[in-house]
Amino acid sequence: MNKVVKFGGSSLANAEQFKKVARIIQKDESRRYIIPSAPGKRTPDDTKVTDMLYGCYNLAIMEDEYEEEFEEQLSAIRARYDDIIEGLGLAVDLTEEFKTIRTNFTRKAGRDYAASRGEYLNGILMAAYLGYEFIDAADVIFFDAAGNFDGEKTNAVLSAKLDETERAVIPGFYGSMPDQKVKTFSRGGSDITGSIVARAIKADMYENWTDVSGFLIADPRVVKNPKAIDVITYRELRELSYMGATVLHEDAIFPVRREGIPINIRNTNSPEDKGTLIVEGTCRKPRFVITGIAGKKDFASITVEKAMMNSEVGFCKKVLEVFEKNEISIEHMPSGIDTMTIFVHQDEFEEKEQKVIAGIHRMVEPDFLELESDLALIAVVGRGMRATRGTSGRIFSALAHANVNVKMIDQGSSELNIIIGVRNHDFDDAINAIYDIFVKTMI
Ligand code: ASP
Repeated sequence: MNKVVKFGGSSLANAEQFKKVARIIQKDESRRYIIPSAPGKRTPDDTKVTDMLYGCYNLAIMEDEYEEEFEEQLSAIRARYDDIIEGLGLAVDLTEEFKTIRTNFTRKAGRDYAASRGEYLNGILMAAYLGYEFIDAADVIFFDAAGNFDGEKTNAVLSAKLDETERAVIPGFYGSMPDQKVKTFSRGGSDITGSIVARAIKADMYENWTDVSGFLIADPRVVKNPKAIDVITYRELRELSYMGATVLHEDAIFPVRREGIPINIRNTNSPEDKGTLIVEGTCRKPRFVITGIAGKKDFASITVEKAMMNSEVGFCKKVLEVFEKNEISIEHMPSGIDTMTIFVHQDEFEEKEQKVIAGIHRMVEPDFLELESDLALIAVVGRGMRATRGTSGRIFSALAHANVNVKMIDQGSSELNIIIGVRNHDFDDAINAIYDIFVKTMI
């Protein structure tokens, strides 16, 4: 058995958290490759080291004027690591490392270089604490000259390197470009590094340790104490993340998915919880008919009506072209026989709305055009829905009981999700009504 284990920033925020992490790693022999994030927040109003580094770099490039602030900020960053070193009783001295960082900052080595030092230094400490080999991600994770991740080169170099390395710590979040410059993924990108390493060693499992016990069926800010999801498929997860559920970086799914490696989301502060298992497919019967509910607010809809629109060749294309020309992305597009409705982000649409209306008139001469704003979209996702009759019926009667007026409904052809449009102010009630009928009443 081979596992890749990634720990998020809150799992490594101080020496106490490092100790928990080491206990988790030492409990299972197969946890051989460790991916640390940078130290995160120790308390809710604390600052992540990554953000401190971005701030410090901004001061560095403003040069002389901010020299004092720059030095202060760099010392504050060093203090975060020295605290950990002291708390763990490590014989590590970061003086030389900070000298190099200081020089590179003043030479304007780049924002990505600056941010990457958070993971880099944490990796050094973690390797020393565990007695594992340290592998600099810049030597094994590659981007091309345009800054896109180079999966094939990375996979070849990384798997060869790890083949000869029994146990290693590889910092998350960054790699290097052909000119040796450091490049990072987008924020939260250590999740991606973990997935890349899991692919390279064809791991049996990619464990992603964070501060929650997995994905929850619904957003805890909307539903009180929602249950966690035991098992979710990659496709279900994709639907839910798209609609705003966050725990894992969206791009972290692709490398492991192509190798069929499961991801297990676990809680460092509650290691006995099983967390959520993310898999390609499963025969295991879902506990509830629905796997999860997620949603987003603040959409506008544009309904275009024209008799016989279905028989007019290229009608939809012409309407969509108007949005394309105005650089407005389309979120969702349910259609009827003589109508089509386009959902867009309200803030993107507002300033261009008159141009869009005029454009549609010019392109397709509609009989009627209607705009609505302050709408929310809710996705009810579940592989269990395919095998269960009456799911949509139950959703709509629950919403009717909760006095929620449904503006739109769309069932994806995969039968994996149902999307419902409601007014913004009905958003919480709608999600709670759906949660109650499928989860609460079933417990
Ligand atoms: N430390 C980086 C961030 O804060 C990357 C990560 O934690 O995954 O975004």
